[in-house]
Amino acid sequence: MRHFHVVREHVRIAYARTEITVTDPELGEVAAADAAERYGPLWVITAHNPFSEKRSSAENEADHRRLVAELGDAGHELLPAVGASPDGRWSETSTAVIGLGRRRATKVGRAYGQNAVFEVTPSVQKVHGCFSTWVLARPACGPWEPAPFSDATLDEAIREAFGLELDLPFWRFRRPGWRYSGDPQIPCDLCGTDLDVFSALLQFKDGTWYDAKAIICQGCRTARIPSHLPAARRRAIYGWSDWHLTAQDALKHPTKGGEWHCYIAALDDPEGKRLWRDKEWVYVGQTGKDVDERFAEHKSGVRSNRFVRDFGTHLRGDLMADLPTHRTAAEALAYERYLAAQLELCGYGVKGGT
Ligand SMILES: [Zn+2]
Repeated sequence: MRHFHVVREHVRIAYARTEITVTDPELGEVAAADAAERYGPLWVITAHNPFSEKRSSAENEADHRRLVAELGDAGHELLPAVGASPDGRWSETSTAVIGLGRRRATKVGRAYGQNAVFEVTPSVQKVHGCFSTWVLARPACGPWEPAPFSDATLDEAIREAFGLELDLPFWRFRRPGWRYSGDPQIPCDLCGTDLDVFSALLQFKDGTWYDAKAIICQGCRTARIPSHLPAARRRAIYGWSDWHLTAQDALKHPTKGGEWHCYIAALDDPEGKRLWRDKEWVYVGQTGKDVDERFAEHKSGVRSNRFVRDFGTHLRGDLMADLPTHRTAAEALAYERYLAAQLELCGYGVKGGT
């Protein structure tokens, strides 16, 4: 989980819109779905640009050769494949593995730093998350676009949720597709009222989809985009939104028998050398174990955070009373970040929570 990050809605959509072609020794270059008709389900994996960071083509090609050699050595049948955006502006050399299966495919994807891998059958193309379980399916043939959240403009959605009329300053607010997302319990920086979040999936002129958010304050009647909020509030809003997405994933794909909790440990550096004594300090973590057991581990140096090991005094039961239980590690990791951002907004010095 070292590289854990939440693959957000618009990134999943970009994956789902990918058009995959395969080079068949007899048929030549065909749509992956046509090859799947002939060979059965294909698992399409790339080694390019791990963690979506752009790399040189030499590095990408070297990793691609390593991937193909590794799968070939393991006895799998492979077809050369290419995944491209619908407008053809980007493409990635990939390999289509015949009948690999989800577990193996996502494991290989993880080993090559890929957020997702593809499964193609004659009728459906699915994207599978590699670092946490999520799936997005679309018909295998023809172009595909995601369904909008609603057909309401932002002012219609606000009127429906709160009966309020607001002056909306951005053109994106006037486009349809908005829905109320919820109240992340983050106070407005202008008036202290809890903020509300609305979301939409919108498209740039070039066809790329993005996650649009509107931050509404019913107190001072403002509508803002996240980049107009102070950084700590923006972090908290994205943390909350990521937690919601991972919680939805966890509902659809719970981890069998698992349960995760976040915890908050009080930190006290008596000399104030490493933790200034200008505020109260806490450490935020998450664990699949009992939280007291995990705290004891930190103190005895087992996979410990050095601040908890050296300065942890006790768990802050008072702050932990209302924390939810999580069904997957991904959900707990996302909540951990939201919790850390919330505590920072409350004036605590925060370690961990990343
Ligand atoms: Zn306000």
